[in-house]
Amino acid sequence: MANITRIRFAPSPTGEPHIGNIRTALFAWLLTRHNNGKFILRIEDTDQARTVPGAVEKIIESLKWLGIDWDEGPYHQSERLELYRSQVQLLIDKGAAYNFEDERGAAVKFNMPKDGSIKVKDSIRGEVTFDNSLIDDFIIMKSDGFPTYHLASVVDDHLMGISQVIRAEEWLPSLPRHICLYRAFDWEPPEFAHLPVILASDRSKLSKRHGATALLEYQEMGYLPHALLNFLSLLGWSLDDKSELFTVEDLVKLFTLERVSKSAAIFNPDKLDWMNGHYIRQMRPAELADTLLDHWHKYPPPEINVQPDRELLIRIVPLVQERLKTLSDAAPLIPFFFTTDFNYEATELVQKKMDMEQTRLILNVSKNKLQNIDEFKSTELDSVLRTLAEDIDVKIGQLLGTLRVATSGLKVSPPIFESMEILGKDRILSDIDRAIKKLDSIPKNI
Ligand code: GLU
Repeated sequence: MANITRIRFAPSPTGEPHIGNIRTALFAWLLTRHNNGKFILRIEDTDQARTVPGAVEKIIESLKWLGIDWDEGPYHQSERLELYRSQVQLLIDKGAAYNFEDERGAAVKFNMPKDGSIKVKDSIRGEVTFDNSLIDDFIIMKSDGFPTYHLASVVDDHLMGISQVIRAEEWLPSLPRHICLYRAFDWEPPEFAHLPVILASDRSKLSKRHGATALLEYQEMGYLPHALLNFLSLLGWSLDDKSELFTVEDLVKLFTLERVSKSAAIFNPDKLDWMNGHYIRQMRPAELADTLLDHWHKYPPPEINVQPDRELLIRIVPLVQERLKTLSDAAPLIPFFFTTDFNYEATELVQKKMDMEQTRLILNVSKNKLQNIDEFKSTELDSVLRTLAEDIDVKIGQLLGTLRVATSGLKVSPPIFESMEILGKDRILSDIDRAIKKLDSIPKNI
């Protein structure tokens, strides 16, 4: 097996995979692909009490979303019980393990060496030493007939020919137990690499109070899989001090354990937003439109309750693309393109330092001017409305503010002239008519 790279991702299905789990999967996968090896997915479901229904599906969905593929598996440890039992029997026969009575019934413990120490080379941390006297005998087979993590993990890593074990730093204390198991079996251990922890910006343990931790929540919030993958790749790995944007191909080419850091990685949500915005801006209109449609299909936005027309959306996205940090930022900016049924309060038409009469004037004269425009193009609209504002002695911002609310129902909307061009003359005129009627409905004493 020596030079063949075989690396596994071995999640326990105890809940929704979080950022840390998937960062482990990503690093393990990048190293495998970098070495043209085989990537193996193994579900470690031997702790029946902690197994959560649906968690395996979430793990698979998370990996697929990011494009992390595997060559073998998923293997389920719960389907390999006979194998663990026979390996445990071997240890008992050798005197390396013994039966004992637990409160719940018969179980098996591993006989730890009582003195001396274990030295192991970790590919990231260098040499680590553990004092045997500090480690008690530990259970390898529980009374329910299921192996513990330690046993199942070692047996599988050996039988599956795993060349490097890549896992989170929290598993480092398990390492001496695993090494002793390898020795008792008389097996060559794989190489080990324990990845640095991920901390929040305040350097405390990353938790719910810092925002989403489950990977698929990021999908729901409108992050692009590639942005997230790029972002995760930098949680503990770097090429140099400056490069931040990488394609998957780059990462596969460049990823090595030498460049994985020992010190904690800091999860910076602002950087993720920046990166996501960057990748959104890189997309072609049709690509972004299709991505939005897929996203909305999965997570229907409350603002848009009709099926948006794809061709229309392709024309709209360039107007908002610059402003999007996430896909979810789009829907609130553009519902008026898909429905005339948007709502607003009549008083919102009245801009700061304006009164009802001036607002009514703006709407009426704008309507007259716009009616006479033949080429309903943004440049033409721009020049006509600017001249009009001067003629009636209002600020262009005030005039456009009123028209913005009238034609979109929003105070902040995509660029107004371009939006008007897309909406077309008839629609704009009917929006203005509606605004005039709304204004007339305000009681006069306001
Ligand atoms: N099942 C363990 C987990 O959920 C895997 C630890 C390992 O990779 O050895 O993290």
